[in-house]
Amino acid sequence: MRKNIVAGNWKMNKTLQEGLALATELNAALAGSELNCDVVIGTPYIHLASVSAAIDTTKIGVAAQNCANKASGAYTGEISVSMIKSTGAKYVILGHSERREYYAETSAILNEKVALTLAEGLTPIYCCGEALEVRNANQQNAYVKNQLEETVFNLSADDFQKIVIAYEPIWAIGTGVTASTEQAQDTLAYIRTIIAEKFGQEIAEGTSILYGGSCNAKNAAELFSQPDIDGGLIGGASLKVEDFKAIIDAF
Ligand code: PEP
Repeated sequence: MRKNIVAGNWKMNKTLQEGLALATELNAALAGSELNCDVVIGTPYIHLASVSAAIDTTKIGVAAQNCANKASGAYTGEISVSMIKSTGAKYVILGHSERREYYAETSAILNEKVALTLAEGLTPIYCCGEALEVRNANQQNAYVKNQLEETVFNLSADDFQKIVIAYEPIWAIGTGVTASTEQAQDTLAYIRTIIAEKFGQEIAEGTSILYGGSCNAKNAAELFSQPDIDGGLIGGASLKVEDFKAIIDAF
């Protein structure tokens, strides 16, 4: 059975002290409650170790938002997956559209990052999604298929089963414009279909596919009620415990 997952992406927000306060507040808010989904928080790199030490990581998984495409060595300023692992983090968000757009992350670079993440036993949360022009031209399925074919569809079936997919239409990220429930469900159902074509029905049924893009406390329940939406990758609404908890509670 695939997992339901609500994953926060703090992006470049929160000082260390603010991040620790947010994480411990979330930890307290979730303590003692039965959750119907896995919860993940994607913090800035420099918060990973402190946040992991301050919370119950059996209840809240910690994610890095990126990693280096090299294992170690003379790459000034970079952070390797083994360093991320040593903090207690269990996930790495990869291929976010902001990294593709602002930091020129190509499919070739992402293939290296996915492979390094899997080699360390961490879970990639692999993002895909189209820009507005692509959606307006009704080419979103072909676009997303190509993004997956250039990257995670090259994994072995065994490795593919270790990843989480997040579909995030770029036009819905941070804009307050959510994909309609139908648009989100249709695209996620399409992604599941092409996973089935590539890896078989059983693996497709077992893959967690998240929706991301202005998902919030108000629209989460409707989105998560859809058969192919296994949770959300949450940006802005993950920065306030009340909002993020309401999204978690939408399951
Ligand atoms: C994101 O960047 O992954 C995201 C979904 O952001 P927001 O929820 O703010 O649209």
